[in-house]
Amino acid sequence: MNLILLGAPGAGKGTQAELLTKKLGIPAISTGNMLREAMRNETEVGQKAKNYMDNGLLVPDDVIIGIVGERVAQPDCANGFILDGVPRTVAQADALEKAGVKIDHVVSIEIDDNVIEARMTGRRVCSKCGESYHIVANPPKAEGICDDCGGELVIRKDDAPETVQRRLAVYHEETEALKGYYERLDKLRLVQGNQPIEEANREILRVIGA
Ligand code: ADP
Ligand code: ADP
Ligand code: ZN
Repeated sequence: MNLILLGAPGAGKGTQAELLTKKLGIPAISTGNMLREAMRNETEVGQKAKNYMDNGLLVPDDVIIGIVGERVAQPDCANGFILDGVPRTVAQADALEKAGVKIDHVVSIEIDDNVIEARMTGRRVCSKCGESYHIVANPPKAEGICDDCGGELVIRKDDAPETVQRRLAVYHEETEALKGYYERLDKLRLVQGNQPIEEANREILRVIGA
């Protein structure tokens, strides 16, 4: 099963992608995590992405299409995958189509803009594996340490309130149109994001028929 998770920054895409990976046994592909890793390793992709990411803007489509194309061709994606945070533009969606990547369901995690700031100020992410936590809604077992890999939890630079506002505006201007795009293909499934994590997960499993 090939899935796409759509939603505003902070909607819960990364959190749900991790849960779905465990339950469905297919990998989660987060372009945000891939780009942050590329930045840490100072690769060419990382250098191209840095300024856009730090300023809450989208990284150019050609960079994204390149890294996603390579990733979905890996053998562990043969039985399915979960795309978290990609596509984010119509050009990226068209590129997936053109590459022959078949999509079964597009789950849009719906959330109001006014809930997002509280989520972002409490978000902590693992500096090693990218896993997402929240100091109140989803705390790690030991403060500041990733449950999964023991990595140090950090605050993302682009979770600063001004940058979050920019990212939200970018979502409404460039990404939200994908809901109509996938609706026309009869693949769009809406899920309420403003409910406890496990309940949102059950709703996702239901709408994808898993
Ligand atoms: P969130 O879901 O909280 O917005 P992500 O980790 O998905 O965060 O993305 C963080 C940043 O990485 C984005 O603001 C953007 O700069 C870049 N990015 C991630 N995925 C894409 C993509 N598919 N297209 C363009 N830029 C992307
Ligand atoms: P995204 O990948 O869409 O940007 P995340 O999964 O990183 O979003 O979630 C953003 C923040 O909100 C994180 O701190 C996460 O722990 C928290 N969070 C995710 N889902 C929920 C939820 N259903 N209720 C409350 N907080 C949540
Ligand atoms: Zn970790």
